[in-house]
Amino acid sequence: MQLKTDIVIVGSGAGGATMAKELAGTGRKVLVVERGPMPKDGEIGTLRSAVLNFYDRCALRTSKEGTIIYRALMAGGTTIVSCGNGMRVLENELKKEGVDLTQEFEETEKEMAIAPLANNLIGRGSRLIMDSANRLGFNMVPMPKYIDSKKCVSCGKCVLGCPYGAKWTALSFLKSARRSGAKFIPKINIQMVATKNGRAIGLIGKSPKGRVRIYADTVILAGGGIGTPVILKNSGIENAGNKLFADMFNVTYGVLKNKNTNLWREPTMAVVSTKYMKEKGILLSPFIDVPLVLRWVMSKRKQLKNFRYTNLLGIMNKTRDDNVGLVTAAERFEKAPTISDMKRLNEGARMSAEILIEAGVHKNNIIYTKPRAAHPGGSAAIGEIVDSNLQTSIKGLYVCDASVLPTSPGAPPIVTIVSLAKRLSKHLKKA
Ligand SMILES: Cc1cc2nc3c(=O)[nH]c(=O)nc-3n(C[C@H](O)[C@H](O)[C@H](O)COP(=O)(O)OP(=O)(O)OC[C@H]3O[C@@H](n4cnc5c(N)ncnc54)[C@H](O)[C@@H]3O)c2cc1C
Repeated sequence: MQLKTDIVIVGSGAGGATMAKELAGTGRKVLVVERGPMPKDGEIGTLRSAVLNFYDRCALRTSKEGTIIYRALMAGGTTIVSCGNGMRVLENELKKEGVDLTQEFEETEKEMAIAPLANNLIGRGSRLIMDSANRLGFNMVPMPKYIDSKKCVSCGKCVLGCPYGAKWTALSFLKSARRSGAKFIPKINIQMVATKNGRAIGLIGKSPKGRVRIYADTVILAGGGIGTPVILKNSGIENAGNKLFADMFNVTYGVLKNKNTNLWREPTMAVVSTKYMKEKGILLSPFIDVPLVLRWVMSKRKQLKNFRYTNLLGIMNKTRDDNVGLVTAAERFEKAPTISDMKRLNEGARMSAEILIEAGVHKNNIIYTKPRAAHPGGSAAIGEIVDSNLQTSIKGLYVCDASVLPTSPGAPPIVTIVSLAKRLSKHLKKA
C-alpha cells in the first residue's frame, strides 16, 4: 500500500490525537496511523477486552529485569485506561528547556474540563484513607480529574476503560480530528522514517495486508515512551531510547477487620497527597488494581486474614524514578529500580502502611506489591534527541509524546503531553 499526505502522525494517544485535532482542517492533509485496533462498541470497560485486546501483552509486558510497564496499544492509546488524573507536571523543568506551557496548560484544562473529583464521588474507602492520612499530616485532597461527575457511576473500572463515557480519552480528540477531515488508519505498525538528504519524506511500516509506504512533508512520531524510540533508532537516531523513566510505583494493600468500604468500586485514585512529591518524589493515592487483584492478591489471600474484595484497602505510591533504562531497536526494554528508586519505593510504602494502620488495618495484615510502572517516557528527551520545538536532527521529523519529557514527573503526565501537542501544533501552523 502507498499513501500520500501532507502531515502524518504515528500513534493516536495523548500526543498523537491532540496533534491530529489541532492540525486537521487547517488546509493541510492529515493522516493518523495507529498500530492497535479501533475498539468496537461495548468493548471499552470489560476486563476481557482490556487484557486480551488493548493492554500490551495482556498487561504482562515486562522489562528484561521483570518490571511490568503498562501501556495500551489501541486507538486512543493509553489514555483509554487512564485513571482520569489531570495534573500539571514538569512546568518548571520544561521552562528550563525553553518550553513555556503556561497558555497551553490553561487551554488543556479548560478543554478537558479538569476539576477536583466531585465530593459525592469520593466513596467510603477513599474518604477513610483521606481522613486517616490527614490526621497524620499528609494533606490528602480530592484529585484533579477529567471525569464528568454526572456520568460517573463509581464502578471502579477506570483502568479497564470507562464503559460509561465519563472519562476524557484521546478518542474524543481523534473523532474531532476526523470530523475536520483527518484520515485515520488502525493496525499499521510503523517501523522507520524514510529520509532524503537529511529530511523526512515519509514512513515505512506494515499492516495485516503487507508493507505500507507513506509519503509526507511533515512526520510526527507519537508512539509513546517505548514505541517512539524504536522508530527513531531504526531511522538512524542511535541515542534515542538510551534513557527511560517509567514513574515506578508499588501498592500497599491491607484488610480491614470489621468494616467493608468497597474501595475497589470507587473512582480509582479519587484523592491524592502530593506533600512529598517535590522533596522526595513520592505521590500517594488510594488504589486497587483490578487485574492485579485478580491475579496477585488472590494468590496472597492466605497471607491476608479475612480478605474479601469489600474490605480491601490499597494505596499507590507513585515515584519519580531515575531516567535510567533502555529501549532497543527490537522494542525490548530494560528498567530496574536503582538504589535511589528503591529508597523512594520503600519510603512511600512505609508511609502508605502508616496511613492504613491509622485507618484501622492491623500491622500484620499488610502486603506490598513489587515495583511496576505505567508512564514510560524520557526516551527522546527535549535537549537531547529533540530541540525545544520537538524537532529531531532529521528535518521535518518531530516527536510529541511522553518520550520528549526531560525527566520523570512521578505524577500523571497526560495534561502536559496534550499541552506540548498544542504548542507544537501552533508552531507547525506558523511554519
Ligand atoms: C493504567 C494506567 C493508568 C494511567 N492513568 C493516568 C492518569 O490518570 N493520568 C495521566 O496523566 N496519565 C495516566 N497514565 C499514563 C498515560 O496514559 C500515558 O503517560 C499517556 O497516555 C502517554 O501518552 P503518549 O501519547 O506518550 O502515548 P500513548 O497514549 O500510549 O499513545 C501511543 C500510541 O502510539 C501507538 N503506537 C506505538 N508504536 C507505534 C508504531 N510503531 N506504529 C503505529 N502506532 C504506534 C500505540 O498503539 C498508542 O496508541 C496511565 C497509564 C496507565 C497504564
